Amino acid sequence: MPNPSQSIPGIHHVTAITADAQKNIDFYCGILGLRLVKLTVNFDDPGSYHLYYGDELGRPGTILTFFAWAGAYRGKIGPPQVTATAFAVPSTALDFWSRRLKEKSIQPQAADRFGERVLAFTDPDGMPLEIIGTPNPKGQPWSSLPIPADHAIRGFHGITISEEGYENTAKLLTDIMGFKSDGNEQNRFRYCAGSGDGFASTVDLLCVPDGRHGAMGAGVVHHVAFRTKDDAQQAVWHKTLATERLNVSPVMDRTYFHSIYYREPGGVLFEIATDGPGFTADQTAAELGKKLMLPPWLESHRAEIERVVPPVHLP
Ligand code: ZN
Repeated sequence: MPNPSQSIPGIHHVTAITADAQKNIDFYCGILGLRLVKLTVNFDDPGSYHLYYGDELGRPGTILTFFAWAGAYRGKIGPPQVTATAFAVPSTALDFWSRRLKEKSIQPQAADRFGERVLAFTDPDGMPLEIIGTPNPKGQPWSSLPIPADHAIRGFHGITISEEGYENTAKLLTDIMGFKSDGNEQNRFRYCAGSGDGFASTVDLLCVPDGRHGAMGAGVVHHVAFRTKDDAQQAVWHKTLATERLNVSPVMDRTYFHSIYYREPGGVLFEIATDGPGFTADQTAAELGKKLMLPPWLESHRAEIERVVPPVHLP
């Protein structure tokens, strides 16, 4: 069993692909009321945007990010992938969200899961999303104008990963990453982060042995990142994952956090990212998301980059 200091406290961020940066911004800021906390470019492909949404500061556990690949083909949802990304709201806000989505011509599917109400819908790229009502969500609301603070999204509830078989992934979660099994409903097996305060802590493994395989593209989650406190703790994770022969990457400096990557046994790309330095590393809290930010090594190419990326209207 992992020792308590080496147990994942929860999800750090989810990264997906969009084919249209403007539609993406209009949807996540304008309809869901998230804050655009950083507009930058993909550090490995500086001709395309990397968009980051979250709460007021983009705290770990609230961060949804997109690689904006203009005109990208739509992907296929299916195993092995993160096939749903769920936001938490207070249980009392579910009716508000059901009404709001319908007003915006989005028809959510309602369901009950582990005693909580779920609204399932998709974003403009077809990415599956959920809003889940929980009695006491831990996150802080970013009260943007169209969404009263009482109803606002409080970060992630968790994710659903679809796999042909779930047992090897479950073993990684429980035996190495410190998650605890929290029961199942039919073919949905729930795991909760073992440390932390229950914020952005749920990973559901959906066992779909006959599921049609997914394909990467617009509307598909690229990877999920889990939290670690700091560089020292991340170094311990690196060693553990290397010992388990999970083919872990070296530490990558993502400016707003430091990352290591590995593929879980089912095939989904996992990351472990540090809580800091955070999005105020290069902008004040008030300035977040107001202009295109570039890392120092790309700043000298700003004019070139601004010519290549499509113009966007920021909230
Ligand atoms: Zn990431």
